[in-house]
Amino acid sequence: MILRARIVVPVSRPPIPNGAVEVRGNRIIAVGRWRDLAGNRRQTIDLGEAALLPGLVNAHCHLDYTALAGEFPPPKIFTDWLKLITTAKSGWSFTDYLRSWGAGAEMLVRSGTTTVGDIEALAELLPRVWESTPLRARSFIELIGITNRRSSQAIIEEAADRIGSLQHPRCRAGLSPHASYTTLPELLRLTATLARRHRWRVAIHVAECALEYEMFTRHAGLMFDWIKGSGRDMSDCGMGTPVEHICRYGLVGPAIIAVHANYLGAGDADLLARNRIHVAHCPRSHFYFRHAPFPLHRLLKAGVNICLGTDSLASVYKRPHETVELSMFEEMRALAAAHPDLRPKAILQMATLNGARALGLEGKAGELAKGAFADMIVLPIAGKIGQAHDRVLEHRGPVTASLIDGQWAIPAPIA
Ligand SMILES: [Zn+2]
Repeated sequence: MILRARIVVPVSRPPIPNGAVEVRGNRIIAVGRWRDLAGNRRQTIDLGEAALLPGLVNAHCHLDYTALAGEFPPPKIFTDWLKLITTAKSGWSFTDYLRSWGAGAEMLVRSGTTTVGDIEALAELLPRVWESTPLRARSFIELIGITNRRSSQAIIEEAADRIGSLQHPRCRAGLSPHASYTTLPELLRLTATLARRHRWRVAIHVAECALEYEMFTRHAGLMFDWIKGSGRDMSDCGMGTPVEHICRYGLVGPAIIAVHANYLGAGDADLLARNRIHVAHCPRSHFYFRHAPFPLHRLLKAGVNICLGTDSLASVYKRPHETVELSMFEEMRALAAAHPDLRPKAILQMATLNGARALGLEGKAGELAKGAFADMIVLPIAGKIGQAHDRVLEHRGPVTASLIDGQWAIPAPIA
């Protein structure tokens, strides 16, 4: 099959006018100008006045919280939000989680995501949710344990058994110790060892809020007091920054995604870069919590791979009577609004190539290139080729078509 479009935006190379992408099975076998590929005389689908680009890669999401969209107004204190979401979830049944996950996955497909890195609070949803969606999923099983009521060994073994039992042609599982403050050092150490042995990916929330930074650097503060009150051994606090904390317990290397990394010490950007840890930034969630400005330029300067995520709809600001959706286009626009000096091309790379790298799909997703998975989306487009990246970022609403793993998740309209 050959897909022809007015503009092909491969991301890993400049936009191609009157371009085409040739697909065989679930892979891309050629990308180029239509006139160069047309000789291959395969079945051609002419997408007309459209842009064809790689499906977006959402590097951090909590699909199971989709039903909490707009439930909580932005909190004054971060820990208040944690309490709200914990209470809200405590009344949920397995079916509630399942429905919420499914609704979120549908939103992502509609808005152009083809690969998602998702945190699974309820590991039992796997593999059922994988079978229910066309998305390419990297599901990180959430690990939480702040007291010794359940040993870190028992927590990790349960997750490892589950991962061992899962097999899916498009989806994989990994581990997500929730955050440094909701886990003990032993759990981080065991996660690092096991993930290295099995080549699993790991995602962890790091330095998300100022209170967490204070807890680890100063052995004090509101979060410190609250967590201490829950019975957590706090002897790992007061030793350095949250980024130093995860590195100290072995969470280093290119299989690790540090989610947020909003509050950094003087050496943290270099530490992340040196250890090849990816950073997932969630622009709308960042805005919702009114965090200090994201240290984008410090991280870029250090050479850290920055990718983008939607986080969950429980941390997206919603005006009265407005509906909010999970959408990487909204995240790209929120990033552009917060950092007007960032070029559209760089933003699109963060939402595609960089996310693919973080999720272990380098060369396989996030770009239109020979050998990559046939994961791509179609948008209506007008204007000059030189402005293709700007126009892509302006896209609102559902995408025209979405192809994932060579199959139409949203079929292309017949011209
Ligand atoms: Zn998160």
